[in-house]
Amino acid sequence: MGLNTQQTINIQPNQNGFYGDYGGQFLDENLKNEFQKITNAFLILKEDKKFNEELDLLYKHYVGRPSSLYYAQNLSTKYGAEIYLKREDLNHTGAHKINHALGEALLAKKLGKKKIIAETGAGQHGVATATAAALFGLDCDIYMGEIDIQKEKPNVDKMKILGANVICVKSGGRALKEAVDEAFKAYLREYNSAIYAIGSVVGPHPFPMIVEYFQSIIGREAKKQFLELTGSLPNSIVACVGGGSNAIGLFNAFLDDEFVKIYGVEPLGKGASIGENAASLTHGKDGIIHGFKCKLLQDRNGNVANAYSIASGLDYPGVGPKHCYLQKIGRVSYDTISDKDAVQAFFELSKMEGIIPALESSHAIAYALKLAQQNPEEKILVNLSGRGDKDIDFIINYEKNAI
Ligand SMILES: *Cc1c(COP(=O)(O)O)cnc(C)c1O
Repeated sequence: MGLNTQQTINIQPNQNGFYGDYGGQFLDENLKNEFQKITNAFLILKEDKKFNEELDLLYKHYVGRPSSLYYAQNLSTKYGAEIYLKREDLNHTGAHKINHALGEALLAKKLGKKKIIAETGAGQHGVATATAAALFGLDCDIYMGEIDIQKEKPNVDKMKILGANVICVKSGGRALKEAVDEAFKAYLREYNSAIYAIGSVVGPHPFPMIVEYFQSIIGREAKKQFLELTGSLPNSIVACVGGGSNAIGLFNAFLDDEFVKIYGVEPLGKGASIGENAASLTHGKDGIIHGFKCKLLQDRNGNVANAYSIASGLDYPGVGPKHCYLQKIGRVSYDTISDKDAVQAFFELSKMEGIIPALESSHAIAYALKLAQQNPEEKILVNLSGRGDKDIDFIINYEKNAI
């Protein structure tokens, strides 16, 4: 097992919500009291046996956890190293997002809130939140850009079937960034009766801390399963990074195991120029967005740049503050994978193992395949954050000749 010689690596935010230089709470004064209330309630609940038992039962019987750890034999034979997949794609609603959506809804219930407000880009977080709201009998307002609503009809329909209100955002670029802006505005009006359920380990303190707590189940399970299956820890672990929730969920359990190499994979999109990618840690500079400080994609004038990735779930100009910290202290290596390589990995996993991955997760798969070729003696654990059903129509059009 891990030596735990460097306990300080896996830090929690300080009182002001900072992980080293990153994070914090850049908020409207009106919300500060409310955020303190949420922070206090969460810190008590996370130590509360009943709360955690309730969550564990939901994870087990509603989500289908523990998600399996699968040895990908065909890929391993072809690429050299042993490749293991943590199957978050098998969860109810098809990805890791249900882990924090249920936690946030349970928190809302305990705080006596009647409504959940959330933003969504591709609709994955919206569907997970609408699902949790339905289960707990909460009202649910999902803010979504007009362009995304047109692009993601099946997810919009699912949210409506689940009983959520989908609110069309028509300002600015009419996409994820504007959806967050509008959802925050609504929250400012309604915070007495509503809670904001954010979609990743981003936003003002305490959101990154809360989402991280609920996602950490991934790494706890994976570490135990890996030890049972192989008798050792992996040499390397890999996850894709949008805001960073599935990645931090996996990484946390291994941060103090100093011999485990950790890789976060960002989307390089079409290239390294501004507007062509969503690789905030690789190509961003320190800046503030949506109430927290992080590595942020910016143009030459310091304005927030447009983020782009073929995977809508990775398409955010900022990134979780703990990732910025882990990059700075050198514990996690962050690297990029292009649209093209992600699509290739999408088909490789589908054809070699019979598992169709989400385009987001395909970035992690692509990187793992590179690592495997360079390190044929290694055992590599990859987080398969979601399934690819949502991407089928898109990919068929994108790669007309590939099938
Ligand atoms: C939303 C999403 C992501 C990106 O979000 P993180 O917070 O970075 O995990 C990755 N994979 C899938 C399948 C998603 O739906």
